[in-house]
Amino acid sequence: MTDLNPKERLLKALKKEPVDKTPVVSVTQTATVDLMDQTGAAWPEAHTDPEKMATLSLASHEIAGLEAVRYPYCLTVLAEAMGCEVNMGTKDRQPSVTDHPYPKGVDNLEMPADLLSKGRIPAVLEASKIIREKVGDDIPLIAGMEGPVTLASDLASVKKFMKWSIKKPDDFETILDFATDACIEYANALADAGADVICVPDPVASPDLMNPSTFDAMLKPRLIRFAEAVKCPMVLHVCGNVTPILDMMADCKFEGLSIEEKVADLKGAIAKAGDRAVIVGNVSSPFTLLSGDVAKVKEDSKNALEDGVAVLAPGCGIAPMTPLENIKAMVEARDEYFA
Ligand SMILES: [Zn+2]
Repeated sequence: MTDLNPKERLLKALKKEPVDKTPVVSVTQTATVDLMDQTGAAWPEAHTDPEKMATLSLASHEIAGLEAVRYPYCLTVLAEAMGCEVNMGTKDRQPSVTDHPYPKGVDNLEMPADLLSKGRIPAVLEASKIIREKVGDDIPLIAGMEGPVTLASDLASVKKFMKWSIKKPDDFETILDFATDACIEYANALADAGADVICVPDPVASPDLMNPSTFDAMLKPRLIRFAEAVKCPMVLHVCGNVTPILDMMADCKFEGLSIEEKVADLKGAIAKAGDRAVIVGNVSSPFTLLSGDVAKVKEDSKNALEDGVAVLAPGCGIAPMTPLENIKAMVEARDEYFA
């Protein structure tokens, strides 16, 4: 078939349509210290300054060769806009939520009327426009944002959230609905600002933290409502070995499911998702991209392609100290595989 441009390639792959070659992108965070040093756009400023946010994310395409521009670099933008306190981290440490607006309960939940003008949301929307202007129409923009489960746990504190999931199911469902409403509003604003795909890491939904039966009964309905209400394709990323919930994840109406290498049977995962969702992944971020060498990156990448992954990508966020040559090797591996 004729050559597709990277945006066509990614969008078709997410729809399970034929492509000339498997796209190679990162749907999870892409910033590394190497790229910060080469561009002069570094954390923590790049979390706040739209020009720096755009410059650093463009580097993962222009310098590292990935076929998408993925931004921003944390899972705290919406949480902060909703009232969480955030520590902005350092050059090699991501921002984290340090205080929570609703640890006492759900009686006073209040959606900010001007949510899209709160915190760093305007900076992310502005960065989308800058990136699109610089990169043109042929390269896809992937915006990242925390999912409703992780947002709800940030609003309540993880400790309370876990407690409510067992002892106060009504409160648990109320804060999940509240978080889902916010996610829908923000995701559609990202799409309006130019994002072609939205990647939704929702680490708190992992079977490492939440019982699969809770996922099925309480998380899945919110994730479905979220996916159905957002106007652009979305990829759901859940950390850890998601084998016990993969079938439920595939029901969530996301176009793609981004999984880690901890899901040992990649072929089985692809078969299980079937026509419901495509699988994105799964080159190990900590063990291969961060601490492996070029040969190991190429081997893991080719194995993922051989198993039939729809989009070749890191299994989770790229660690900031990851060597640039290892990210480039993932792209080279794809090119060699299809040569
Ligand atoms: Zn992850």
